[in-house]
Amino acid sequence: MQQDIVLALDLGGTKLMVGLLDRSAHILRKKLYPSGFLTQSEAMELIFRSLDDFLTDLPPELRPGAIGIGLIGQIDARNGIWKMIDPGRKNPTPIAQQITERYGLPCRVDNDVKSAALAEREFGAGKNLDDFIFLNIGTGIGAGVFSGGNLIRGWQNDAGEVGHLTVNYDGNTPCPCGRSGCAEAIASGAGMDRRLRSFALRYPTSPLVSLSETGFVRAETIFGYAKENDPLAMRLATDATDAASELILNLVRVFNPRKVILGGGVASEPWFFELLNRRLAVPLMDSVDQGVVLSELNPSVSGLVGAAAVGFTALM
Ligand SMILES: [Zn+2]
Repeated sequence: MQQDIVLALDLGGTKLMVGLLDRSAHILRKKLYPSGFLTQSEAMELIFRSLDDFLTDLPPELRPGAIGIGLIGQIDARNGIWKMIDPGRKNPTPIAQQITERYGLPCRVDNDVKSAALAEREFGAGKNLDDFIFLNIGTGIGAGVFSGGNLIRGWQNDAGEVGHLTVNYDGNTPCPCGRSGCAEAIASGAGMDRRLRSFALRYPTSPLVSLSETGFVRAETIFGYAKENDPLAMRLATDATDAASELILNLVRVFNPRKVILGGGVASEPWFFELLNRRLAVPLMDSVDQGVVLSELNPSVSGLVGAAAVGFTALM
């Protein structure tokens, strides 16, 4: 058994990835398993099937010292319990204990954003930093905040749901959480798609409107049309950038970080990132002495690297 290798499992909305990683986050081997919209018990079956498959014929020199798991939804990380995926899929499952019983290895679990923040501290732009914010702006918005070297969790591990801080009291932008003007309702991929639909009658000639009739419109498509000065796309994209910059300024006021590390598909759009930096050119940001940067972790495997960072906490 290798104390320098962990088995990482990342379960996202569409795929499950399993891999072996070392302490430099090198991926020694990995395998992808299709998932989809699953209940927790269906997901547990898939997790067991995938791990059974992955661990078959593993040479002894690759035998991991622990298992780290990154999951969507609410996690009680201290007790290793997967509380729910969302309120409609709620079946508290002692996943860490079940994995340990079946495979004889220590197991730690955490949610996807907390895993990503741990990965930044262990392997990424947050290395050697005690005070930084990892902010994911993708389909949704969430943050992992390190303060004084500790990841802030709150008593239910739900700290960091910053997408639901309101940044726009004037606007009429309802959020599925019940409030209005949440950052996530304006700056996330899902929020931008919803706002596009609510503006359709005001911008009938925008090509985005006809695209929205055929399905979900991705943020990268909206930014593409913004670059071509389509008025609806410009509005959605600049509002998203404004909302994100307000959110960051609020977080900086609360946590006084040295660095803000951005992840997620929206944040990594060059159009968005450039305008965001212009919006953030205010005196308050001088206190963030290491600036606002994009995550350097490869997005196609960052979930796996996050799960590995979770796994290594069992081997410290
Ligand atoms: Zn909300």
